[in-house]
Amino acid sequence: MTDWMHTVVVVGGGTAGWLTACAVAAERRAAGDIRTAVVLIESPDIPTIGVGEGTWPSLRTTLRRIGFDEGLLFREADASFKQGTCFLAWNGGGDADRYYHPFSLPTGYATTNLAQAWLANGGVGDFAGFVTPQSAVIDRGLAPKQAGMPDYAFAVNYAYHLDAGRFADLLRIHAVDRLGVRHVRANVTRIEGAPDTDIEAVILDTGVREAGDLFIDCTGHRALLLGEHYRVPLLPVDDVLFNDSAIAAQVPYADVQSPIPSATNSTATPAGWIWDIALQSRRGIGHVYASSFTSDDEARRILAGYIGSDPTLRDSDAADWRTLRFQPGYRARFWERNCVAVGLSAGFIEPLEASAIALIEQSAALIAQQLPRERVIMDAVAKQFNDKLTYHWQRIIEFLKLHYAVSRRDDSEYWRAHRSRGSWPDSLADKLLLWRQQTPYHRDAPMLDELFPSASYQYVLYGMGFRPQYMPNCAETVELEQATQDVKKQSRRLVSGLIPNRSLIQELVGR
Ligand SMILES: Cc1cc2nc3c(=O)[nH]c(=O)nc-3n(C[C@H](O)[C@H](O)[C@H](O)COP(=O)(O)OP(=O)(O)OC[C@H]3O[C@@H](n4cnc5c(N)ncnc54)[C@H](O)[C@@H]3O)c2cc1C
Repeated sequence: MTDWMHTVVVVGGGTAGWLTACAVAAERRAAGDIRTAVVLIESPDIPTIGVGEGTWPSLRTTLRRIGFDEGLLFREADASFKQGTCFLAWNGGGDADRYYHPFSLPTGYATTNLAQAWLANGGVGDFAGFVTPQSAVIDRGLAPKQAGMPDYAFAVNYAYHLDAGRFADLLRIHAVDRLGVRHVRANVTRIEGAPDTDIEAVILDTGVREAGDLFIDCTGHRALLLGEHYRVPLLPVDDVLFNDSAIAAQVPYADVQSPIPSATNSTATPAGWIWDIALQSRRGIGHVYASSFTSDDEARRILAGYIGSDPTLRDSDAADWRTLRFQPGYRARFWERNCVAVGLSAGFIEPLEASAIALIEQSAALIAQQLPRERVIMDAVAKQFNDKLTYHWQRIIEFLKLHYAVSRRDDSEYWRAHRSRGSWPDSLADKLLLWRQQTPYHRDAPMLDELFPSASYQYVLYGMGFRPQYMPNCAETVELEQATQDVKKQSRRLVSGLIPNRSLIQELVGR
């Protein structure tokens, strides 16, 4: 039987569109399928969102899978290494109010739960530093790998901070030149098909009709196909996660040789938080906040104070800052008939753990690996996709809310509302009860492809100062003692063997 799928049409040329087009085209090539065409239609008039500078280690897997040269990121996209997030002032401020959520799992995590040993020792001191050597590496601004290690290989797990616009450009070039994606620059002005039938084609403002078998909606917040055409509603979550606005700035270093930190800094503010992402030539800094709890002017004032108080930055012209609005929520369904939404069209919530691109990668991989061979199979694929993505969105919301729910901040209505049980998802409230007597562990993350492993819950929970009411009775086992010693030994070895981020990046870009 010949496959039914001939043409996959991706509408939208942002990070979501290009990553998805690359994933599908690369998978078809790997399968030896030269017949399925991938077309990407991108408006020449509507710009991409232009933010999204923090990524996850999954991006290394995605880029390797599509055959992308890692060096390009450092040479062309101003990229640096990201090893996790440092949360500051999430309990109200002070020098000690900081903790890491690193990318590496605690040492021996598959079989050993070091959190038990840490809690049994009284749960004092830096949790991440006790369970993973990555904490020491981040502290010292060191790179996650040695010079000479192959692309994508590492000593400690890493992702990238990168310039979102240049990254999308690189993906476009890779998709078109290396993977045979056909690129059309035009506006989609009409969709051929009724809301209760498959989409036959999209009509462009050039008069061209692009027919297809599967349409991937990557049109950003507009959600032209899934939202406007199929009217699949956005389920709002602003009763749980209040942030709906952001002001984004790009600020050059005062000294071009400034050290490049290894983690995103996330600093809590009275009605939101500030992201601070260090690239090679500049920092991307933005204030995410809830418009129902503060004004734009106040949010700008706080951002200006943050930037102005950092002597390692040059002055930033506030006229260049961009204000972005979003409605926090996700679609009731992501795949409807022969249309699937990926990226902002599928939903968006505040970028606290930078999960949006990771979700794009996972959606793109699911579509590429399960590209339906017959029309009738598509409905089953769609159902599975919808169930899985709904699960992921609910877990992301729960995990982001955890950062607020266990905070001790009491300095504004915003924090009091976040800490109020009434704004928590029930699943989080249940888990917080469980964690009064046990640590998060594998049983709390039952899916194989969980976005946040239970270790992430440990890092945030204990980093924020949450302690169980009933301390685990941890009879010292040989494995726990061994793992504790391993962390110390690896920390010493890595700290003496790794070089600073900027030094390694300069070697990679050849200057
Ligand atoms: C403040 C903020 C900070 C963020 N930070 C992070 C982060 O650190 N990490 C992370 O993972 N994510 C982050 N995100 C999310 C991230 O930016 C997006 O998930 C990512 O950029 C993907 O966007 P997109 O491709 O879905 O949409 P866009 O970039 O908006 O692209 C939409 C595309 O659709 C095209 N289009 C629209 N209408 C038409 C039409 N009629 N015809 C043809 N083409 C059309 C446009 O031209 C454009 O090419 C952040 C988002 C915000 C708002």
